[in-house]
Amino acid sequence: MKPTIPLLAAAFLLASSAARAEWVQRITDGIMGTRITVELWSEDRAQAEAAIDAVLDAMRHVDETMSTYKPTSEVSQVNAHAAEGPMRISGELFHILTESEKYSELTEGAFDITYASVGYLYDFREHVKPTDAAIARALPAVDHRHVVLNPDQRTVRFSTPGVRIDLGGIAKGYAVDLGIEALKARGITRAYVGAGGDSRIIGDRFGKPWMVGIRDPRKGEGSVITRIPLTDAAISTSGDYERFFDEGGVRYHHIIDPHTGKSASKVRSATVIGPYAMRTDGLSKTAFVLGPEEAMKIYNRIEDIDAVIVTLDGRVLYSKGLEPARAAAPPPH
Ligand code: ADP
Ligand code: MG
Repeated sequence: MKPTIPLLAAAFLLASSAARAEWVQRITDGIMGTRITVELWSEDRAQAEAAIDAVLDAMRHVDETMSTYKPTSEVSQVNAHAAEGPMRISGELFHILTESEKYSELTEGAFDITYASVGYLYDFREHVKPTDAAIARALPAVDHRHVVLNPDQRTVRFSTPGVRIDLGGIAKGYAVDLGIEALKARGITRAYVGAGGDSRIIGDRFGKPWMVGIRDPRKGEGSVITRIPLTDAAISTSGDYERFFDEGGVRYHHIIDPHTGKSASKVRSATVIGPYAMRTDGLSKTAFVLGPEEAMKIYNRIEDIDAVIVTLDGRVLYSKGLEPARAAAPPPH
């Protein structure tokens, strides 16, 4: 008789927890200046809410540390003092700066956090842009090689005055990865974390992939130009429609060509798919600077990523790894 009660209790517990299992979603605005979406599968509502809180805490932490809008952030301190001499920085910032350097090399200089040496002269919300003379003065400070890292001392130094860095092109991806780690640490096995254009997924939707839509760059929010099935992957989209103003037939927007100091406008959008959001974020700006052909060559060369580019004339280009999916459509005959 004795074991019956625990067995029954266990069966009851199983049944009741299965009944409560559900997708839990929360959408939050205002961290890192963007919209954060977290969705996860959970068998316990309270644990799900606590897990989402942990993701948002991670995002707030990245915002506090990496934002150039906050004068107290570690990055703002680096911008203020690194030209004076080597500065000891946190392991976390050192890691992001090291990764940034890697993406500069992979993208032949298209990704460059020192873009901010001219980038700070723009204010896209206020429709402010620098004169050509102001750009010419600031441009010599744009070069990722001005950021000198010393791994032994864990220091950073700017080799010339006038250098500014901004992690707006990589920090959201990093924050998404941190959020995903927080969920994994809590045993979550199916989840989506998105921050603006950067997202990452754990697991699938019970045998089916997550379907992530890529926005049509010339249509409203919610319009989709193509959908990509994803399981255990990160995806980042950069678009010229995110933060911009049009003046005299020219679109001024938030991705800057490090060689010219002007908006990089060689594509309408670029999406990169890969294992980590920091990686996909770091690589999604390349196509704007280098153009679709050069960028696709680089994307095809990097083993663990794929890409979708929307060209200026509205064509959708896929990297080699995505061609099988595209070709799955019935043959024409
Ligand atoms: P989102 O902020 O929506 O994730 P992106 O991933 O496309 O958008 O990143 C755009 C941001 O990248 C810009 O707002 C700016 O902070 C930064 N950025 C702009 N140009 C460059 C560049 N050439 N290299 C690195 N970062 C850049
Ligand atoms: Mg991004």
